[in-house]
Amino acid sequence: MEELAKGAHDPYLRPQTAPETVLEGPIIVGAGPSGLAAAACLKNQGIHALILERADCIASLWQIKTYDRLRLHLPKHFCELPLMPFPKEYPTYPTKQQFLTYLKAYANMFDLKPVFDTTVVSVEYDKGCGLWRVKTNMNEYFCRWVIVATGENAEQVVPKIEGMNEFKGTIVHTSSYTSGVRFENKKVLVVGCGNSGMEVCLDLCNYNACPSVVVRDTLHVLPQEMLGISTFGLSMWLLKWIPVRVVDWFLLLASRLVIGDTDKLGLSRPTLGPLELKNRTGKTPVLDVGTVAKIRSGDIKVYPGIKRFACNDIVEFVDGRLENFDAIILATGYRSNVTTWLKDTSLFSEKDGFPTKPFPEGWKGESGLYAIGFTKRGLLGTSKDVVRIAEDIAHQWKINMKPLKPLHHPPVS
Ligand SMILES: Cc1cc2nc3c(=O)[nH]c(=O)nc-3n(C[C@H](O)[C@H](O)[C@H](O)COP(=O)(O)OP(=O)(O)OC[C@H]3O[C@@H](n4cnc5c(N)ncnc54)[C@H](O)[C@@H]3O)c2cc1C
Repeated sequence: MEELAKGAHDPYLRPQTAPETVLEGPIIVGAGPSGLAAAACLKNQGIHALILERADCIASLWQIKTYDRLRLHLPKHFCELPLMPFPKEYPTYPTKQQFLTYLKAYANMFDLKPVFDTTVVSVEYDKGCGLWRVKTNMNEYFCRWVIVATGENAEQVVPKIEGMNEFKGTIVHTSSYTSGVRFENKKVLVVGCGNSGMEVCLDLCNYNACPSVVVRDTLHVLPQEMLGISTFGLSMWLLKWIPVRVVDWFLLLASRLVIGDTDKLGLSRPTLGPLELKNRTGKTPVLDVGTVAKIRSGDIKVYPGIKRFACNDIVEFVDGRLENFDAIILATGYRSNVTTWLKDTSLFSEKDGFPTKPFPEGWKGESGLYAIGFTKRGLLGTSKDVVRIAEDIAHQWKINMKPLKPLHHPPVS
């Protein structure tokens, strides 16, 4: 491959070396599992990509923003990245540390060296030179392809609730929650009942705190396993043979037998079944790892939505109940940040920063723009996206690659 311009031959250039650099290969924004997988699959095709990461490490979501007791929610074979299986000795649900060890080994195996502490602040297509202009907090790059791998969980969602600023106790988002150790003997209100919220409640119980959970909407809770078989794995298998509604009917019946009637516990089920709801709205069912039993035993209390924070440490709920708490944990999720830096593209929706086209169509945009990890299907979705993206870029690289035109202002080495 021809060298494009002075300083452009090393795809891992430290940003300080050039204020403006033209790259032959793609830029990948984000060094989470998706960004790493994309870089590895491209490398496997002989293409070097430059990974830009705002944090100072790979997989920052997992390293910095997740709690200690976290394990993969899905069995490991649904979560492994392409080209490298999990070690055989890993348990079915690897711990967070095991997952991180695997990701570090993955980066080493493919010699992936992201440029850290580099936040992408703007990406736009320059029609003049037919290249993407990628601006970071450090400098500027030009390239043919941009792969967006900043994830569904780029920024915390913090709800605005009347009186919240006046609350006298501690308020933390789950992204800052490591374990229940600091909440021993404290009354803690967990706001949000997704997988994280439910698991944090369980963790708090294990540290002798008194947790309550806010359940505002209907939700599906399914046991993580049924008779030793992963519920997720079983669902995927059944879907190969029978329609989604029948699988849903089976899942609800089996859940009732394993974890009982959740409606009675204040966890009302939606009218649509768990898989149909997931397909239509992206809302993931909670995979129970023991929280339901703690709700049933009264160790975890269930409250409806919060109306307001009344005064000092009092919370008023929509049913009129008032209760005092020492701490609030916001398990209110995350959002994509793509719309804040990606300009003028139809690949992503302005509304929520997710691809406008539903899975499996949302991986490719115009003029060499790609999205990976936005399928609402976790790492399984990443694996599907990455194969298509690597093949698509490799096809263009091998068949159509012509040397890029130098820019008006050649980069300085
Ligand atoms: C608690 C929890 C448990 C989960 N468990 C599972 C599970 O068991 N199985 C599963 O499949 N999925 C699970 N997920 C979903 C999770 O999103 C994926 O596992 C995985 O982290 C997605 O990888 P990603 O690379 O797409 O996104 P991320 O891991 O979020 O990585 C995106 C990276 O982009 C970086 N970035 C963001 N914006 C910029 C910018 N402007 N410039 C530069 N860098 C930027 C971020 O710092 C981050 O490092 C879980 C999520 C959470 C929160």
